[in-house]
Amino acid sequence: MTLTKKPESRPAPNSWGLAAGDNPWEYAPAPEATDHIHIEPEYGLFIGNEFRPSKPRKTFTVINPATEEPLARVAHASKADVNRAVGAAHEAHRTVWSKLPGRERAKYLYRIARIMQERSREFAVVESMNSGKPIKESRDVDVPLAAAHFFYYAGWADKLEYAFPNRDPRSLGVAAQVIPWNFPLLMLAWKIAPALAAGNTVVLKPASTTPLTAYLFADVVRQADLPPGVVNIITGPGEIGMELVTHPDVSKVAFTGSTAVGKMIARAVAGSGKKVTLELGGKAANIVFDDAPLDQAIEGIVNGIYFNQGEVCCAGSRLFVQESVYEPLLDKLKARLGTLRVGDPLDKNTDVGAINSAGQLAKVQELVESGIEEGAEIFQPDCELPTRGFFFRPTLFTGVSQSHRIAQEEIFGPVLSVLTFRTPEEAIEKANNTPYGLSAGVWTEKGSRIFKMVNAMRAGVVWANTFNRFDPTSPFGGYKESGYGREGGVHGLGAYLDLSGSGSNGR
Ligand code: NAP
Ligand code: MG
Repeated sequence: MTLTKKPESRPAPNSWGLAAGDNPWEYAPAPEATDHIHIEPEYGLFIGNEFRPSKPRKTFTVINPATEEPLARVAHASKADVNRAVGAAHEAHRTVWSKLPGRERAKYLYRIARIMQERSREFAVVESMNSGKPIKESRDVDVPLAAAHFFYYAGWADKLEYAFPNRDPRSLGVAAQVIPWNFPLLMLAWKIAPALAAGNTVVLKPASTTPLTAYLFADVVRQADLPPGVVNIITGPGEIGMELVTHPDVSKVAFTGSTAVGKMIARAVAGSGKKVTLELGGKAANIVFDDAPLDQAIEGIVNGIYFNQGEVCCAGSRLFVQESVYEPLLDKLKARLGTLRVGDPLDKNTDVGAINSAGQLAKVQELVESGIEEGAEIFQPDCELPTRGFFFRPTLFTGVSQSHRIAQEEIFGPVLSVLTFRTPEEAIEKANNTPYGLSAGVWTEKGSRIFKMVNAMRAGVVWANTFNRFDPTSPFGGYKESGYGREGGVHGLGAYLDLSGSGSNGR
């Protein structure tokens, strides 16, 4: 297969005298310890603060994508289980949670945040084992940000009237939340923290490949003494997600995942009166102007597309480089790719871990093959991959035209498509030439150009001289086929409230 083919001519050495593939830094293995981790052999559904088997009792196996070894078996929920979970949430909302003053709800959220911090190492290790992401990312990004979301929304729980003055904010009821596998714990936090702060109860369905940190979170819910039924977690295939979001006792639907499933959900709940937010795919443009500090931009490009193996909805997967700096930038970028360490997600020096599943790896491979067939030129560093597990080399394509599938479709893997432009107008036109509109990046020294570009980008988030930065106070969400609604910040709180002033639910 051509995927491992070396480039025919090696790029010129960079300023350190290194060519792509030369890695002067030899690192000894530095694996994170796992002996403090306890994963149960089997997890039931978490309903009413208890783990219970599904009815009928049925399970499926969850594996470690870096080793392909089984980690645990988890319950396969049935339609009856969805009813039980929604019933528990509905009852908890009616009798307890909607009646609590905001300051009391806040105390629970602070408690959850503190416990997550205390157990952060455990969360980080389980997250990396189950998802394949490098431990340095789960430890330094996913887990701290998840705790930060609970802290942030805890602060709003008793200030809803100040967040939405004269709107008589009221909770909606039961929130059905379906989340993907790329940021399992962080997406859980994005969903559960604002829902609870606003006075709703939840039923969450994690992705089938990555339920383990959600079940670890269930343990935190019990530790925090949250009233039974406020948080319920059920596992099962996509159809169970559909049963959940269409359940008549669900008032709010929050989904993050593929555009295809997002559209199915939007169709299924249309006209039902449920409040809906959809956070779907992306194909972000990362635009580098010739006045940008190139070394800084290189780090931003790498963070933009190789962070979390590129399995990021807002990944900077289309790089637009101004023609006059194309060659020096590409030389530097190729050299930098050669220094990325791909392998064991639990090794503290790993930059790129395992792809989440065999199915996702096959999707990445198929799209990369299409790039080669359509005539783009592939570059991959000459790194060794582990023999087991779902790994893929950091990849970039040059000679990409806008019609290529690799420039149009979301790859959701460590694959960058490089294109060029001459003028800001051309950059804007090309960057917006996509059905998606989740995020974008701009690299330039010029402040006025940043403002011009930010206003012209049809994207929910635009980063300037940085990429993939997240903060609980900052709203996140898309335009066009990237979905609608915002998560994070006050906007994310509003999505969980009835602001019509005529809601009948308790506060
Ligand atoms: P997906 O099918 O959209 O899965 C996301 C979540 O929706 C999972 O919990 C999934 O459950 C559930 N689901 C699947 N079918 C459903 C249905 N018919 N009704 C309700 N819920 C349903 O995404 P995927 O198959 O894992 O990934 C496919 C592609 O989607 C990726 O290659 C990537 O391009 C994109 N994606 C985007 C994001 C993002 O953050 N925007 C995240 C993940 C994937 P199961 O896990 O049980 O199927
Ligand atoms: Mg799917």
